[in-house]
Amino acid sequence: MKKLTKIIIVIIVFVFIIALIISSIKNLYVELFVSKSKKIENVNFEESNNIENENSNVNENILYEVVLNENDAAQIRKQINDWRLVLVNSENQLPSNFSLDLAYIDKTRQIDSRIKKELEQMLGDMKRAKIGDIWVQSAYRSVEYQEKIYQEKIEEYVSLGETRERAEILTLKVINKPGTSDHNLGLAVDFNYVDYNFDKTSAYEWLNQNAENYGFVLRYRKDKEEITKIDYEPWHWRYVGVEHAKKMNELDMCLEEYVEYLSLN
Ligand SMILES: [Zn+2]
Repeated sequence: MKKLTKIIIVIIVFVFIIALIISSIKNLYVELFVSKSKKIENVNFEESNNIENENSNVNENILYEVVLNENDAAQIRKQINDWRLVLVNSENQLPSNFSLDLAYIDKTRQIDSRIKKELEQMLGDMKRAKIGDIWVQSAYRSVEYQEKIYQEKIEEYVSLGETRERAEILTLKVINKPGTSDHNLGLAVDFNYVDYNFDKTSAYEWLNQNAENYGFVLRYRKDKEEITKIDYEPWHWRYVGVEHAKKMNELDMCLEEYVEYLSLN
C-alpha cells in the first residue's frame, strides 16, 4: 500500500512538471509570435500609411486600461462646438459615420483639407529654417481601416487559442481601438521616424517654439501622461488652430484639460 501511495505521488508530481513545461512553451510561443507579428504590422503600417506606427509600441496603449472618472468625462463631453478641438480618446470615440473633406499632402498621405495650408506653411518654414530633415510619416487614417485590422488581429489571437476576451486585450496592446485616435480626425501628424529621439532634434526644438503659430500643439506631453492616458509622443502633433494652440501653451494645458477648461468657463 505504501508503495502504491509513493507511485501515485510520483505520477502526480510528474504530471504537474509536464503541465508546467507545456505552459511555459505555450507562453514562449505566444510571446515570440506577438513580437514577430508586431514587426510585420510595422512594415505594413509604413507601406499603407493608414495606421498608427506608434501602435506598435505596447507601452503607448495604456489608455484603455485607465478611464477618466465619470464627472471628468461628463465635463469633457460638454465640449465646445469647434471642429478644431474635437477630443478623441478612450472616453470620447468618433462616431462610425464620421466623415471629412480630405486633401493630399503628398502622393499617399491625406489630412483634413482645412489644415492643409497651415501644415504646408509650417513644413516650408521649417525647411527654410534649416532645422534638418523633417517629413510627415503619418497623417489621416480611416476608422474603417483601423476597424478592419483591429478585428483581424483579434481573430488571429483567437485562432491561436486565446479566449475572445484575452484576444481583445492582446490586440489593444498593438492596435489603437478604432475611432479613438487623433489620426482618425485628420488633424494629427507624426513626424520623421516616429521615434523617441525625435525630441533631441532641432526640428523638435523648432516645433516647441513655433508650432503654435501654425495652430499645432504637442498632443501627448510627458508631464500630462496621467491626464491623456497616453505615453509621451514627441513626434505626434495635433492641429487645434492658432488661437487655441497659443492659449493652451499659455495655460500649460493638454487638450483634455483645455476642453474641460473651456466647458467650465
Ligand atoms: Zn500619431
